Amino acid sequence: MFAIRLARRSCATAFPRRYFFNFSRKVEPPPTSRALRPDDDDPELFHLHSQSPNRDIRMRGERIKKLASCPVCLNVEGTRRNVKHECPDCGWPTHCSGEHWEQDEEHAKYCTRLRQVNEDDHDLRSGREMHEYAMPGPIPYGEVVSLSNWDIFYYTRGFPSVDTDRAGRHLSKLLTYPMTIAGVLHEYSSLTTRNQRLTPEGLRSLNALRTSLHAPMGAPESHGPSPERPPVRLFLLGARAESSLPPHVWNQLSLMFPSATLSIYHIGPEVSLPKVSLPPEEQASSAPESSPTPSAASERKGETGAAADAMAITPAEKEALKSLRVWKPEIRELRMSKYTRNEVSVWGVPSYMNPINDQLQIGALRSPYQDIHEKFGPFDPYTDVFFAFQPGFGFPSQHTPGITQIASPSEWGNVIPLILETKCALFVTGFSPEDVERDVRSLEGVPGVAGEFDWILTPGENPFKSERWEVAEFDPRLMVRTNWGIWGIRGKRRELQEVA
Ligand SMILES: [Zn+2]
Ligand SMILES: [Zn+2]
Repeated sequence: MFAIRLARRSCATAFPRRYFFNFSRKVEPPPTSRALRPDDDDPELFHLHSQSPNRDIRMRGERIKKLASCPVCLNVEGTRRNVKHECPDCGWPTHCSGEHWEQDEEHAKYCTRLRQVNEDDHDLRSGREMHEYAMPGPIPYGEVVSLSNWDIFYYTRGFPSVDTDRAGRHLSKLLTYPMTIAGVLHEYSSLTTRNQRLTPEGLRSLNALRTSLHAPMGAPESHGPSPERPPVRLFLLGARAESSLPPHVWNQLSLMFPSATLSIYHIGPEVSLPKVSLPPEEQASSAPESSPTPSAASERKGETGAAADAMAITPAEKEALKSLRVWKPEIRELRMSKYTRNEVSVWGVPSYMNPINDQLQIGALRSPYQDIHEKFGPFDPYTDVFFAFQPGFGFPSQHTPGITQIASPSEWGNVIPLILETKCALFVTGFSPEDVERDVRSLEGVPGVAGEFDWILTPGENPFKSERWEVAEFDPRLMVRTNWGIWGIRGKRRELQEVA
């Protein structure tokens, strides 16, 4: 409750409380006995997991059979029995037997989506040319790109071939990180004070950033940094999957701001690094075939850590930690270009910088953010902005039992107060309405955070969320979408309040 009260206090006049969290009150459709087919169903792409032509999908089926429990056994009989039977409509292993599958009227709620994911995954592996991944070049002079939603964006931005919903879903998964950023920062953002997503404080913050991101009206578009428009620094905190996106995907963000120069810094203990920047011991062991991927390695580390703490973690916390894994996608090894510079001598931690062109450079630093914050100072709200993609603030700490990750000194506890001190904007995403609500509520009572910020973007849906559903292997009923929701805060400006 405190978080809501706090929120109400900081933007009470403009934003009545009903705007907070009303996104998470969803209306469940009535259960039907048999699921509907997806709108863009293609039976040729449909296979049972066990009969998939793709080995990795057959393997996923095997993993689910080891991890997931039959919901009917669990709810009706109170027993835990692994799933074995594959639903003929969605092709996923969903129940222990055909009888329990038939009994389960709830399954229709998930079946249509599961079938869509099944077909999307087979489409991605079909070997067809992925023409939808062709990216447009610079925005022609005088043309305006709309940022209302993916469809209008694809159309007005001139994506060459996004001709089906499926193509749109594939592309949205690739572009969700850069476009979530553009969707907030751009002057044509669809998150405005008019639709009550942006607060007056938020408009002030964004107006400051936009003076550095856009050329003033009537001024010629100039390329590269100039005294009037210094480079804009984007700090992506706790970066994981986003740090392994190919540079041409990030370049789509840069192309949205033709007169700006962007420096993107992926920062966190799990960033993807090119081989040249790995510590020597990891370079030696990083023969691609034999070594685990960075994500597999970190996943394993997480497991041992969790096992050690198991005595202190409650069953409910364990469940919450499980769902934390859903959105932790695999981090691929980063390919480097001939311009990639090893920057360990600059930052003192494994790091690289890659100048893509005269308007964009991308780098990563493998370090907890609090250890290198000082080196990036001084900060300026006109040119610096922070993003945390699906940070899991509200999840139980994996290091300190009994507290959330935002309160834990070894996770987010020492990071957020530093960001608030800079008075720069911080935008945060979550993978579902529940995840956003959990993170926002977790701000309450945290020293150095609660009462120290103003709302700039109220919590709600992100127009540039990934349209693709991600399915949890330990429970295929749990499905989330990358960057589903977004919200933003900024350190309180005390002097302004005293004047007022
Ligand atoms: Zn069963
Ligand atoms: Zn099904």
